[in-house]
Amino acid sequence: MLEQKINKLFGDDDPTGFGTGWWSGVLSAFFGLLAFGAVVCLHFPQVLSSPELRPYYRMDVIRLMIQGVIVGAILFGVVSAMLRRKKVLALTGMVLALGATLLGGSSVPINDELREGPAIGLDWFLLDMLLMTLIFSPIEVLWPAYPKQSVFRVEWLTDIVYFLSTHLPIQLTSFLILLPATQLSGFLGAPGVIEAVSRLPWLVQFFLAAVVADLAEYVIHRAFHTVPFLWRFHAIHHSSKALDWIAGSRAHIVEDVVVRGFILVPMMIVFPHNINVAYLFFVTFHATWAHCNFGPTIKWLEPYLILPRFHHWHHTSQAEAIDRNFAIHFPWIDRIFGTYYFPADKWPDTYGLANEYIPRGFWAQAVYPFVRTKAA
Ligand SMILES: [Zn+2]
Ligand SMILES: [Zn+2]
Repeated sequence: MLEQKINKLFGDDDPTGFGTGWWSGVLSAFFGLLAFGAVVCLHFPQVLSSPELRPYYRMDVIRLMIQGVIVGAILFGVVSAMLRRKKVLALTGMVLALGATLLGGSSVPINDELREGPAIGLDWFLLDMLLMTLIFSPIEVLWPAYPKQSVFRVEWLTDIVYFLSTHLPIQLTSFLILLPATQLSGFLGAPGVIEAVSRLPWLVQFFLAAVVADLAEYVIHRAFHTVPFLWRFHAIHHSSKALDWIAGSRAHIVEDVVVRGFILVPMMIVFPHNINVAYLFFVTFHATWAHCNFGPTIKWLEPYLILPRFHHWHHTSQAEAIDRNFAIHFPWIDRIFGTYYFPADKWPDTYGLANEYIPRGFWAQAVYPFVRTKAA
């Protein structure tokens, strides 16, 4: 398996705490990869950057970021090479940074006028990966709920592939999500609703949007648990044996498209565009955070807003919590519908699926829902 090979090539048996050269090595390789990928994007912007994102770029900021990750890869590489016996991580980071520099670094000019048209969202993948890692990885390393769980736990590579798989074909997935939702909301929507709602204070609109979205999420999520054919897709999301922020991206593409499309319909009927965009940012962060290996909690807030511990109980394999906690923002929605399970102060002991075998790896899981398995 590729993951074991990578673990073997880059890992070793030396300690991995701060000051051992481990984290500097990991950061060097990570920044090196980002730098190299970003410079490749600069060379082929028409194919490797999403037309939907381009209007939001400040190229001077992007170029500065590329310089930053190149320098970071080299500096961390030097630190790691000095501190650690095994130099593969440091070397990889520095070679990638050097490669990015030789390819022109941050100053590669964009000569052509960029057109709309088919493209792969490599830029989106790199940017979002950097952003999410910067936000969530430090808090998982500093304040984990499960301190023994490594960032490179079992199947980490599978989940990175899932993250890739939701970012590279962003044009295709947003088309698949938006088209039916636009048609349906156009058909079902009543004139004047959005206008009336947009007269409310912004925060009230935003809160209502999150409630409406979470009610829709509750319905579709529960359906994915109850309807056997749908469960075959959702089982993939539940196959993670350990949770962290990247585990949240493990979802079958069919589930991803159906769930997002389903939630979007009431949103597009009731709320103005700017609220829906704001909600999209919020749900990306909140849903990712809910999967984090992050221990601290705010006790008084727990009944009102979902913190990681609540969604972790949704992912346990312990019988008492199966088919509980379907909401993603507000725990009280589960309380209203009688599916709330939240023992005080406790985290689950086990995760994943106790009675179901899910094949390992992205492609095996992609076909899994469509293949009939013999009943055990
Ligand atoms: Zn679920
Ligand atoms: Zn989840």
